Amino acid sequence: MKILAILYKGGNAATSEPRLLGTVENQLGIRKWLESQGHEYIVSDSKEGADSDFQKHIADAEILITTPFHPGYLTADLVAKAKKLKLCVTAGVGSDHIDLNAAVKNGIQVLEVSGSNVVSVAEHVVMSILLLVRNFVPAHEMIERGDWMVSDIARNAFDLEGKVVGTIGAGRIGYRVLQRLMPFDCKELLYFDYAPLPEAAAKAVNARRVEDLKDFVSQCDVITVNCPLHEGTLGLVNADLLKHFKKGAWLVNTARGAICDKDAVAAALASGHLNGYAGDVWNVQPAPKDHVLRTAKNTLGGGNGMVPHYSGTTLDAQARYASGTKSIIENYLSGKAQEPQNIIVGIGKFETKAYGQR
Ligand code: NAD
Repeated sequence: MKILAILYKGGNAATSEPRLLGTVENQLGIRKWLESQGHEYIVSDSKEGADSDFQKHIADAEILITTPFHPGYLTADLVAKAKKLKLCVTAGVGSDHIDLNAAVKNGIQVLEVSGSNVVSVAEHVVMSILLLVRNFVPAHEMIERGDWMVSDIARNAFDLEGKVVGTIGAGRIGYRVLQRLMPFDCKELLYFDYAPLPEAAAKAVNARRVEDLKDFVSQCDVITVNCPLHEGTLGLVNADLLKHFKKGAWLVNTARGAICDKDAVAAALASGHLNGYAGDVWNVQPAPKDHVLRTAKNTLGGGNGMVPHYSGTTLDAQARYASGTKSIIENYLSGKAQEPQNIIVGIGKFETKAYGQR
C-alpha cells in the first residue's frame, strides 16, 4: 500500500533535533514501522502545482497524511484523481485544507489527532493576548535597536485585569483559553459558539454566552478566534463585523487565517479601530513575503504579534500528534474502530459538528 505524507521541511534544525517529528526529515517517526509491514512510504514537502510530489503520488496513494502547518490542499479536483485514496490523516488539529464535502462524496475518511495540540495553542493565545495588551513587541524591538524611551511604549501598554475577553468558539482550545485566563481577574469572560457549553463547564470558568456575534464583539476588549474554518466561518471577521468591535480592541487568531479578512484587519489597524492583531495562521501557507499581515501596524507603529504557524507544533505537541497519527493508521490497517473524537468524516458522512452544523 502507498502512504503519502506531505510534511514541512525541517532543514538543519530537523537533522540536529530528532523530536521535530512533523518534518520531512523525521517523517513522523513511522518509516521503519510502515516499511517493516511492506508498505511504501513517500514523504515530501513538495505540494504546489502539477509537478509536485503531492499531485504525482496522490493518484495511487491509499493513505494521505498532511499537517495544517504546511497544508497539502486536497481540493475536489485532486480528490477526483485520487482513485485509491481511502483515508486522510491530519497530523494535528484542523482539516479545512481537505475538501471535506468531496471526501464525503467519495467515501474517503478524514481523521485528525483531536486534542493533540490544544494546550499548546491555548498557551500561545494567552501569550499573544498579553503581548498585545502590554505592547511587548515594540518594547523588545526598541531594546534591540539600542534605544530607551519608556513613554513611547507605556502610552499603549495596559493591564489585562479588568478587561473583557471573549472567544469565538468554546471547544477544546477556546475553553482552555478561558480556563487559563481565570487568574487574570478579567472584568468578564465571554464566548460565542453555536453549541452552548454544558452549564457546569460554563460555571467553572465563569463565562457568559452571547448569542449574537455583533453584540458579542461589541462587548469585548480582546477577541480570540478558536473555531474551525468552514463555509460558515470563512471571512467571518470582515470589514462589516470589525465595525462592531470596540475602538482599540485587540484580536488574536490562532484558528485559521481565512477566518479573518486580512485586508480588513490591516485597514482596521491602520485606522486605529484595532489596536493589535496577533496569531500564527495565514490565509495561505507559507505566507507570501509581501503578505499584508507580516507588517501591518497600528497607528503607533506596533500591534503586530504575527508569527509563522507554530503554536500547535511545539516539541511536546509533535510527540502527541505523531503517536496519534500512528494509532489512526494502525487502527485502519488492522480494521480496529477509530477513536470517535478523531473522526471528522466517516465513510460517506460527517461525524463532527465542529465544521458547521450539518
Ligand atoms: P473543537 O472542535 O474542540 O472546537 C471548535 C468549536 O468551535 C466548537 O465548540 C464549535 O461548536 C465551534 N464553532 C464551529 N463553528 C462555529 C461558528 N461559526 N461560530 C462559533 N463557534 C463555532 O476544536 P479545537 O480543538 O478547539 O480547535 C479549533 C480550531 O483551532 C481547529 O479547527 C483549527 O482550525 C485551529 N487549530 C490551530 C492550531 C495552530 O497550530 N494554530 C492548532 C490546533 C487547532
